[in-house]
Amino acid sequence: MRQALLVFLVGWALFLPPVSFGQDARNPVVEGFTFDYGQWPYPLNDEVGKELQELAASYPELARAHRIGESRRGKDLWVIELTNFATGPGDTKPGLWLDGNIHAHELTGRQYLRYFVHRLLHSYGKDELSTRMLDTRTFYVMPVFDADGGDMVLSRHPAWPGYDASEHVGTDLDGDGYITQMRVPDATSDEGYRYYTESLELLDVRAEPEFLERRRRDPLTGQREGPDFNRNWSAEWEADEPGAGPRPFSLPEVGTVADFILDHDNIFFTYTIHSGGGSRSYMVRPPMDRPYDWMNGEDNHFYMRVGAIWAYLSGGGLTENNYYSYLFTTSRLDENGEPRGYSDTMAGFNVDWAYMDAGLHHLSPEVNGSGWDYNKDGWIRPQEEERWHREEKGGMFDSPWSEVEHPSLGVVEVGGSRGMPPALDQTLQFHCEIQYDFLLYIASLSPLISIAELASEPLGDGLHRVTATLQNIGGLPTYLTQRAIELRRDMPLVATIDIEGGEVIEGGLERNLGHIQGFVAGPFEATPPLTSFEWVVRADSVPVSVSIKVGAPKAGYAEASTEIGR
Ligand SMILES: [Zn+2]
Repeated sequence: MRQALLVFLVGWALFLPPVSFGQDARNPVVEGFTFDYGQWPYPLNDEVGKELQELAASYPELARAHRIGESRRGKDLWVIELTNFATGPGDTKPGLWLDGNIHAHELTGRQYLRYFVHRLLHSYGKDELSTRMLDTRTFYVMPVFDADGGDMVLSRHPAWPGYDASEHVGTDLDGDGYITQMRVPDATSDEGYRYYTESLELLDVRAEPEFLERRRRDPLTGQREGPDFNRNWSAEWEADEPGAGPRPFSLPEVGTVADFILDHDNIFFTYTIHSGGGSRSYMVRPPMDRPYDWMNGEDNHFYMRVGAIWAYLSGGGLTENNYYSYLFTTSRLDENGEPRGYSDTMAGFNVDWAYMDAGLHHLSPEVNGSGWDYNKDGWIRPQEEERWHREEKGGMFDSPWSEVEHPSLGVVEVGGSRGMPPALDQTLQFHCEIQYDFLLYIASLSPLISIAELASEPLGDGLHRVTATLQNIGGLPTYLTQRAIELRRDMPLVATIDIEGGEVIEGGLERNLGHIQGFVAGPFEATPPLTSFEWVVRADSVPVSVSIKVGAPKAGYAEASTEIGR
């Protein structure tokens, strides 16, 4: 089933005309752009915040840094707003919200988004698509969502210069400064050993170093079922969902981000980068835990369309939700009747909040981790990670095995993996580049209003008919989603007319124009329809100047002027 779906998506992608990309459907990297893909450890939250402020100072016409709130432990939460301010304030253009590192252990989002910010700013005026997107859209980028947890995971990584074994579960028996593993011979095991955490006690068999544990452990309290930044949103929130928290938005970071998104009516799309997805990257879409046909067909089509582009860019990557993921790949319950994977529900996700509660489109990539896809099959398998570690990193993330006298077990061997870093080098670069192209493509699909023509004709007795011909030159309709209409969060186009030396007789000074479709019409592309609106004005003496301003928060604003009677 998954195979068939994949073939369908890839096949379809080939037939889609390139909407915004060039002939090869990839956006070339502007000459002179550099990024340190090998940087490890990744920068801490305060360093990222400082970097965003410095970028805003270096590109005052294109970037502004905002401190939007504070984490539970008092760290600053930083967002950088990117747009060409010369073409209007950020909130007058369709906006995209991008966040990374929402889960403490999923660190790579901060790198992908730092790359996105650097490259977009560097490309302005040099690359046509990047320039056009900054002229006509606004990007709100938050590289680090869980500032406390993300920093704690980073600073506990064995490659961190200040790694402190005493912060970790276990005991540094061999005195090498790390908590790794210990093993004792066991003839009944295939590998000849039983493995434990390096410790005075016998901790979880085959337990990994604590920082690697990707379960729902709160990095601040160490509790297994701490609040989860992606179960604390109001959509389908359930109190007994692990990590739900006492109520939706109880986490200050989650509340801060939700407020920011809702306070910015221009935002039409939100994107949250995860990297807990295993050895193959995929894209998560709403609804999380329902079949696709739960969603209005027109809204669903957006995901089919962008899913095809994602399949093309990522080399066959799927866009899916957990409903189908569970349905086709695994039972939700294990043989003991316990929930497998996450839990038997998928409640309180920002994926669903964006669509169900805010009427916005949303995607959450799950980007794979370290290593390199040597055979280019789209998977980074354990042996490829190990090969990368050996060939590219000289095995630096392993400790050699050595014998140690254990107080209760006798002689044991201590050593093994200290844990692999998340994506670096070519793998990081690959995902940086495809996400850059993907996000600019999505930006290009926003609604975008334009005034194709503004004309007038005399009606006699000093009266004139003024006709504005409008076109939505973006892809999506100005109401964005059918869900937004249901929620009454669709924001109609409003036109205002201004006339000097005359008055408006018919049509109103301010007028609700309703909505206009874009070029995405079902599964096909269509020429955006031209839609005309008329006013009747009286000119006291000709010529007089008439100007029209039309727009909506998610569709941007356009203005045109004409002279009557000339
Ligand atoms: Zn995650």
